[in-house]
Amino acid sequence: MVLPSPSAREAFLSGARRSLLAWYRRHRRDLPWRRTRDPYRIWVSEVMLQQTQVATVIPYYGRFLKRFPSLRSLARAPGERVLAAWSGLGYYRRARHLHAAAQEVMRRFAGVIPADPAALRSLPGVGRYTAGALASIAFGLPEPAMDGNALRVLCRLLARRGNPQSPAALRVLEPAARSLLSGSRPGDVTQALMELGALVCIPASPRCPLCPLRGVCRAFASGLQSVLPEGVPGRPTRKLEAAVGVVRRGRSFLIVRRTGEGLMQDLWEFPGGILKPGEDARDGLARIGKERLGRPLRPKEKVASFRQTLTYRRLSVEAYRATLSEPLPAAVAAAGGIRWVRPVELLRLPHGSATRRILAKLAAGRAAPGASR
Ligand code: SF4
Repeated sequence: MVLPSPSAREAFLSGARRSLLAWYRRHRRDLPWRRTRDPYRIWVSEVMLQQTQVATVIPYYGRFLKRFPSLRSLARAPGERVLAAWSGLGYYRRARHLHAAAQEVMRRFAGVIPADPAALRSLPGVGRYTAGALASIAFGLPEPAMDGNALRVLCRLLARRGNPQSPAALRVLEPAARSLLSGSRPGDVTQALMELGALVCIPASPRCPLCPLRGVCRAFASGLQSVLPEGVPGRPTRKLEAAVGVVRRGRSFLIVRRTGEGLMQDLWEFPGGILKPGEDARDGLARIGKERLGRPLRPKEKVASFRQTLTYRRLSVEAYRATLSEPLPAAVAAAGGIRWVRPVELLRLPHGSATRRILAKLAAGRAAPGASR
């Protein structure tokens, strides 16, 4: 967008700001994290909302804050309890970072979340977006928080061509966001931009007739609203198949803890893994059992089958009732990464949504008339 002078640019953005705030006052959703000014509670919401839908976050948010009502209680909690409270929400690195950051705030800032964006960015897991969101929403500072929604709105408002995440585009969009935030209530402007992007200025077919910015929006004026933003590279999705073995001993199930550095690190799950291309689920389970337990798993009947998306991976998961070919090797059993637990205990441990889905299928199978045990 080219405007003739800085004053014309200021007038344009302040008009947009007024319309945006008026719309936000009338249309904003009543969400739990909008009923508080507590920086800790706002921080938890911002971390949970990264890559996760509002409707999914709401019940987790309430439960998490019940368990960890203050930054101090979160910092003091064992990592396993924090992961357990996050179980099913996905992207578990967020929980690990939030926990580590809470401990660092206790240590470096005497338990007080710093209002300074640079200090916020020095905490584990706090990047430009989270620091900006916290600074503006919790501390009322004119710091932009450019999530995908806000970026899309700004990009269309200014009819910015090209990838909006490129350094060249950010050099234009970020100052525009700062100008929008100048004045009172920067936290409301931040949330209004994100809310407009979530409800009206949506990716594929923006609802321009409902938009408070349509009178000033350059993309709308030029008919580019469905074309912009341009060139946002999407990561190609990978389709994978996974097999899981449900091994039972009395009322308990065999579970293993994920090791390594992956997304699911430290979560407890039924033994399983990704199949090799063209590998049969039964052969795969024998191999995976050997790798993870030191004994091949012998699959019986299928107990669950579902699809799951993990970041850029689309998994087709098949779970089988299974047995071990021989008892577990003593060294594996003693290493601490294997347990026999009842379902209720498993649900108290950190676990992913696939584990929960398999447990639900098992419970439904038990409840079904005529089901065998
Ligand atoms: Fe987005 Fe349309 Fe509003 Fe422009 S007028 S900001 S394209 S919804």
